[in-house]
Amino acid sequence: MNDRVVVALDVGGTGMKCALVRPDGVVVHTERHPTGASRGPVAVVETILDVAEGLAGKARADGLDPVALGVAVPGVVDEARGVAVWSANVGFRDVPLRDLAVARLGLPTALGHDVRVGGLAEARLGAGRGAGHVLFVAIGTGIAAAHVVDGSATVGAHGAAGEIGHILVRPDGPRCGCGRPGCLEAVASASAIGRRYADLAGSSGAAAEVTAAEVAERAAAGEPLAVQAWREAVEALADGLATGQALFDVATIVLGGGLAQAGDRLLVPLRAALHERMTFHREPRLVAAALGDEAGCLGAALLALDALGVRDHQEKR
Ligand SMILES: [Zn+2]
Repeated sequence: MNDRVVVALDVGGTGMKCALVRPDGVVVHTERHPTGASRGPVAVVETILDVAEGLAGKARADGLDPVALGVAVPGVVDEARGVAVWSANVGFRDVPLRDLAVARLGLPTALGHDVRVGGLAEARLGAGRGAGHVLFVAIGTGIAAAHVVDGSATVGAHGAAGEIGHILVRPDGPRCGCGRPGCLEAVASASAIGRRYADLAGSSGAAAEVTAAEVAERAAAGEPLAVQAWREAVEALADGLATGQALFDVATIVLGGGLAQAGDRLLVPLRAALHERMTFHREPRLVAAALGDEAGCLGAALLALDALGVRDHQEKR
């Protein structure tokens, strides 16, 4: 039955990654399209449906059988009702995306949260494979997590589980986008690290527009202000992850998002800082994500297959 595929879309604030995914997790086709979020949520929904319909047509033209649709979106997502409840960067407010997709494509459809499905994919097909209990933490412009137990990501009572970026780590720290001071993502997201370095460098001007990756590079080269900015972020991340471990007691923490691309420059000091914070807790394995930016599409496809009751694919690989 290798001719069955799932149509998968991972909708972000600027672009959507799209794929045709076989039930065994193999991606057979990918496409990218602009989200065009500035056009407003109604136009974005139309684009999502158009792209999904186009992919299903492409599958059929290639002799494949599209059996389901999986869509991942950012923000607050009610997976049970298939509703995109709220999203700052796409503008969704209570959009019944699953029902709209079913009406347009006639395919069983699952709607998921971008980070939670990314975590699902990493836990089942990627760096957390075989761990059972996994915490996936995506560190980019913000910080969010997915707690995955035996291949299912916790959704929460209101579709908002996993907001580890809003754990309070520095009460006197910079104000977070959520309005409160000292949240983890206000201190340790990729954008926060760039800002902190610029603040430390002050009026020298050399620090304007420095990315977190560049801060990591300068820190590795021994530049004192970069070393300080990087160390502060690592310490804050370790505080956040220690809280996560106290709550969830996972076997493996998988770090994803742009910051994880710093590799050992992040992982080595972060492992040490996390180790210092463990008392009676069992220390989790701390690893970088393995699936890259395909994780969202793979996870959306897995969610759709789960909804169909097809749950034997990845174990058989
Ligand atoms: Zn916050």
